[in-house]
Amino acid sequence: MEYPMDADPRTREVADENFMRQLRQTFEQLPNDIPIYMFTQKGMDDVFAQTNRQIVRAFRELTPKVTFKEFDLDHELAQKWNVDRSPTLLIAPERISIRWLGAPLGEEGRTFLETLIMVGLGQSNLSEQSLKVINKIDAPRNIKVFVSATCPYCPQQAVNAVKAAIEKSNLISLEIIDIQCEPELADQYSAHSVPQTFANDVLIAQGAQTEEVFALSLLKLAPETIFIPESDAELVESDLVIIGGGPAGLTAGIYAVRSGLKTAIIEREALGGQVATTPIVENYPGFTQVGGKTLVDIMVSHALQYVQIFPGEAVIDVVPGNPITVTTNRRKFQTKTVLLATGARHKHLGVPGESRLAGRGISYCSTCDGPLFKGKKVVMIGGGNSAVTEALHLHHIGCDVILIHRRDNLRAQDFLTKQLFKTNIPVLWNTEIKEIRGKERVEEILIVNNQTNETSTLKVVGVFVAIGYEPAVELATKLGVELTADGYIKRDAKHRTNIPGVYSAGDVEGGYKQIVTASGQGAEAAMTIFEDLINPYWLQKQN
Ligand code: NAP
Repeated sequence: MEYPMDADPRTREVADENFMRQLRQTFEQLPNDIPIYMFTQKGMDDVFAQTNRQIVRAFRELTPKVTFKEFDLDHELAQKWNVDRSPTLLIAPERISIRWLGAPLGEEGRTFLETLIMVGLGQSNLSEQSLKVINKIDAPRNIKVFVSATCPYCPQQAVNAVKAAIEKSNLISLEIIDIQCEPELADQYSAHSVPQTFANDVLIAQGAQTEEVFALSLLKLAPETIFIPESDAELVESDLVIIGGGPAGLTAGIYAVRSGLKTAIIEREALGGQVATTPIVENYPGFTQVGGKTLVDIMVSHALQYVQIFPGEAVIDVVPGNPITVTTNRRKFQTKTVLLATGARHKHLGVPGESRLAGRGISYCSTCDGPLFKGKKVVMIGGGNSAVTEALHLHHIGCDVILIHRRDNLRAQDFLTKQLFKTNIPVLWNTEIKEIRGKERVEEILIVNNQTNETSTLKVVGVFVAIGYEPAVELATKLGVELTADGYIKRDAKHRTNIPGVYSAGDVEGGYKQIVTASGQGAEAAMTIFEDLINPYWLQKQN
């Protein structure tokens, strides 16, 4: 876990001690040893190899179950296990086939920890639904998951693959590939956004999938997007189901449980929503400056003190009524109320080349994919707070970034705009992007000055898009919830929608899209729900 720079060091120490104690106990109970082998090129001791040593040493201090051995690439064991890249980590290679190309840095620390625990346990912990799918695989699968240390979506996908490799070790092998350590391999697979997953060299996913959708994609060797659970899915009864684990949903969860409501939060992707990929947050009270993912980690650990969170679960159906039925890829909830905190999705440019080259130089997440473009020429499209924050981030990590904006002044806050000008990031004003070109990956863009109508091309290898968000209202529409003319959820001052028992909070409602306002709306909605469950307004109306 990371901490904000200004966290009380004593709080940090106590939290660290508690966490380490819990980890030690967890490892003590594991029945199996966890041998780790690192292979490196003779005479080559890069930062990834050194980091691996440090990480494994930290685990060895925790538990004698982790053992560590190092070999050169020309050692006979490298031949035996087909290791030819440096550094490569193999985990329990006598029992399973899981390897790391690079080092489990940053966000990938989570994947590494979960992997060690599952290997020590000798169990994949796959859901029953996923198991049914994985058990249908009857031919070898080699999985490659491309990840980066700064990608909050990556651990979900990498852990899906680890589970599959543990469950069916006779047929499934896995390589987790850090794009910063292996840029040539990423180039070879045109994997320029993370996570990207290949099975037997077929692209089966761009982005993180739920476990069940991943299992299906692996079985079919195709990018599946939906999984329908079999009818024996688990049934959960609750007072409130919160759909969406961003600031609105997490805050609502805390308030609802503290009011005594049996509550569940369902989130299909990374917890924290857009905040998880925001490089730096500077306007959330209490934190002068905090990484978006760090703030999310703090919010999630707080929420977990109270509320059960179902991460990696996608709601595939929701039916109004009394109770309301919410079906995910894994279980069915019967609930008195639903809070739609589904947030918003990034907008696309809609220009030729955008969908064909998605993940091949076009990115909607500078935090995740930025590191691959260090030292390279990229553009950031947009003129709002996101585009400016992310352009600054790309500049600070060493990208040669140009901001392209369609007007001659920015929508972003004055504070951010000043920072942009101070860092001398070039801006192309009154400029629109007309086409993104490239054979296998982004090579150039066609732009037009909308004042002079002059067109020109610009050679770039990366196009980052931050042009705003569209509300995620598919489930609202399914429930029959009325929308505003702009497509947001229509609700009253108490966050009630037109459907009894259905409420909303956060960016899906439109308005000011700030972390602090989303949290506030989550709290308000949870308090309304509590009051309504004691005294249902829809029954009052009928009487
Ligand atoms: P935004 O505020 O809606 O800005 C979108 C930008 O993209 C605008 O500059 C817009 O141009 C431009 N744009 C829209 N469609 C375009 C297209 N098809 N082609 C080219 N450019 C296009 O979106 P955002 O920056 O993602 O922010 C979303 C919300 O989150 C906002 O409410 C924002 O305040 C909030 N946010 C806040 C912070 C913060 O407080 N630090 C950080 C990030 C986000 P025009 O200006 O010409 O319309």
